[in-house]
Amino acid sequence: MPFAAENSSYVFFPGLYAPEMPYYTIKHRIKHQEDTMSEQMIRRRNARVLQIGSVAIGGTNPIAIQSMLNTRSDDIEGSVRQAVELEKAGCQILRFAIPNQEAVALIPAISAAVKLPLVADIHFDYRLALAAADAGISKIRINPGNIGDDQRVAEVAAACRANGIPIRVGVNSGSVEKEILAKHGGPTPAALAESALYHVGLLEKFGFYDIAISLKSSGVQETIAAYRTISEQCDYPLHLGVTEAGTERMGLVKSAIGIGSLLADGIGDTIRVSLTANPVQEIAAAQDILRGLGLLEGRPTLVSCPTCGRTRIDLIGIASEVERRLADVHAPIKVAVMGCAVNGPGEAREADIGIAGGDGNAVLIKKGQIIRKIPSERIVDELFEEIAAMLTEEN
Ligand code: SF4
Repeated sequence: MPFAAENSSYVFFPGLYAPEMPYYTIKHRIKHQEDTMSEQMIRRRNARVLQIGSVAIGGTNPIAIQSMLNTRSDDIEGSVRQAVELEKAGCQILRFAIPNQEAVALIPAISAAVKLPLVADIHFDYRLALAAADAGISKIRINPGNIGDDQRVAEVAAACRANGIPIRVGVNSGSVEKEILAKHGGPTPAALAESALYHVGLLEKFGFYDIAISLKSSGVQETIAAYRTISEQCDYPLHLGVTEAGTERMGLVKSAIGIGSLLADGIGDTIRVSLTANPVQEIAAAQDILRGLGLLEGRPTLVSCPTCGRTRIDLIGIASEVERRLADVHAPIKVAVMGCAVNGPGEAREADIGIAGGDGNAVLIKKGQIIRKIPSERIVDELFEEIAAMLTEEN
């Protein structure tokens, strides 16, 4: 009973699921802890810590951003190229499909090009999981209930344990087992959670606990409810996502609501924003969701006003340019770009640095103090000179 030894707040119920599938569920006494990362003081669910290659998830570790290659699995060169782009964009854990033995060749090829932990996405064929483990993968996404008898599950668990590889059990509303669907009358949140815990139980049976779980539904409310349900039933780290969320704009909106609501509850340890788009856009979207909640560690926050009839400078252009240049700033500063003297100075004073527009000019405000007036064409340059000076002073 390793959990019981590690933490007395977990209670075990052996054999709760079904006698023929012994399975240990963990009743998680909700045990949140303060998340010092977040200015909003989000209290994180205390998930057990998993090491995925160089990235630790769970506990108070930063929420890790994941994405998935959408290149063909037989296109090694293109896959490596996209992996490099994703790493450059800020991807922290990278998944790709391994549909056959030939695709296992992706693992060493991508490993040689990026430092990211790599996750093999495998369905049904346990031999692919064994081959991926041998080829140096950092994590495997597989549902043990889909790979056959106990012997196969035992082999996969043993190979993963020997190589320090965690397994993600990933359930979605289309993959819930018939019996569970019948019991719940459909792919309800409780059905998704039960399905995930069934697969988890097959691994636990072999003493394997390095597990992460995802429960995805294309319905935002169902996704939120499913994760809330399972977050109280176990302490495994949770990978969040709204599956098949849609194209760039709608997919971001649905993911921001679904993933964002859960993160605000303190639930979730890794996230993927699924978009029908270039996966590089998924990284930007994920960063924006984390930034919006104050969970993007070490990065700036931009506050800007919507402009109105009082605006006398090109605030929309200025804010866009500030946002673009802030992408290169790696410091947790708050920058305000405000249109006028009515609300501007007040808001800018709340920030580390900011500007409030006047008529063809702006005042620069730093740590609550008005520093000087800047002509409109110099606003962005001077703001960034001050940001650079401020960061140098602070170092
Ligand atoms: S800060 Fe000024 S310009 Fe911007 S919306 Fe408010 S009142 Fe209008």
